[in-house]
Amino acid sequence: MNKNQKLGKNFSLKEFTRSQIARRNNIDNTPDEKQIENLKELVQNLLQPLRDRVKCPITVTSGYRSFRVNFLAGGSIHSQHMEGKAADIDITCMPLENLFRIIAEDFDYDQLIYEFGEWIHVSWNGKKNRKSTLIAFFEHGKIKYRKYNPENDKQQKRETK
Ligand SMILES: [Zn+2]
Repeated sequence: MNKNQKLGKNFSLKEFTRSQIARRNNIDNTPDEKQIENLKELVQNLLQPLRDRVKCPITVTSGYRSFRVNFLAGGSIHSQHMEGKAADIDITCMPLENLFRIIAEDFDYDQLIYEFGEWIHVSWNGKKNRKSTLIAFFEHGKIKYRKYNPENDKQQKRETK
C-alpha cells in the first residue's frame, strides 16, 4: 500500500489510515483494496467537494479503522469506519457548527453526526445514502443521539445569545 497515494486533490491515503491507537498497540491498520476504494468514494463525492467549497484545510482525525482499532476506539460494532466509508473531521478556519450546517444543507451523505461539539462524523454509502443527521451528547454519563432539527437548533442558538 502506498500511503502517499492521493485519494483526491487535497487528501492522501495516510490521513485516513494513521491512528494513534494502532501505533501505540502495534496493530496493523492497513485497509484492503475494497476499503481503499470506499475511502476514495468518500473523498471524491463528499470530502473533496466540501474542501473546495470551504476553501481551507479539513483535518481527518479518524478515517479507516481495522476491527481491533475500532474496538479500542470504542466505536460501534457496525461502524462504517471499518469499511472505509466514514471519517471524523475537524476544521480551524470556521466554527465547527458552521461546517456541520454547510454539509447538512448542501451535501449528500449517508450519516452526519455532530459529536459533542468536538468533531464531525460523516459517511458515504453511494446509492444507499440515508442522509441521517444526528447530534451526539452525553446524558447521565451515557452517549445519546438525537435528530438534528435545522429550525429548532437555529432557534435555540438565538435564544441563548
Ligand atoms: Zn466517526
